[in-house]
Amino acid sequence: MHRSLQGKTSLDVYLCTYYNVMRSIVESLPNEETGFIIGKPRRNGFVISNAYPIITSKRKPTSVNFSDFSIAERLIKFEKALHASTESRILGGYHSHVGENTLNQLSESDFKHISYVLDASKSPFWIELLVKIESRKGYQKNMPQGEFFYPLAHEPKKLKVEVYDEPRHGYHFTFSGFAIDKEGSVKELQIRRLDRRRN
Ligand SMILES: [Zn+2]
Repeated sequence: MHRSLQGKTSLDVYLCTYYNVMRSIVESLPNEETGFIIGKPRRNGFVISNAYPIITSKRKPTSVNFSDFSIAERLIKFEKALHASTESRILGGYHSHVGENTLNQLSESDFKHISYVLDASKSPFWIELLVKIESRKGYQKNMPQGEFFYPLAHEPKKLKVEVYDEPRHGYHFTFSGFAIDKEGSVKELQIRRLDRRRN
């Protein structure tokens, strides 16, 4: 594991960033969605303060990719200019896995994709926020409208978010965070929620 990842165990994500990621993922259903996450390292981990979807990506129900990898290079360069005077930068990306039968883990093709953008970013590591989404209906009772965050009982590093937009329909999101270094070592980070709104 690269030394810049040593001692890093947490991924703190601002509430507004959860919202932006979930919005883009719901919009793209039934296809997968992808985007970049912006943030900076802190002592024990990383803080994610913003995220945005990649508008030109090629979305399918079981994969999502850049339509052209030069787009990733252009965006990474542009983001460096935007944050030239701060520590914030593109720390990594996010993408969704759609449906109850998908995994909360990175796939072979995810690793291939990440190793490419890791090269383009010239960073020693990449943070990937993986979001599984399930659209659920048919509840026996009416669900209270709103959003609910809680840790996933059997995988406590992950964070579950349920959002009910109709009395008997809700979206279930499972957020997982991974740090991947250039050698391909992977470490799962503890995902947490920061409430202060920014950006
Ligand atoms: Zn994936």
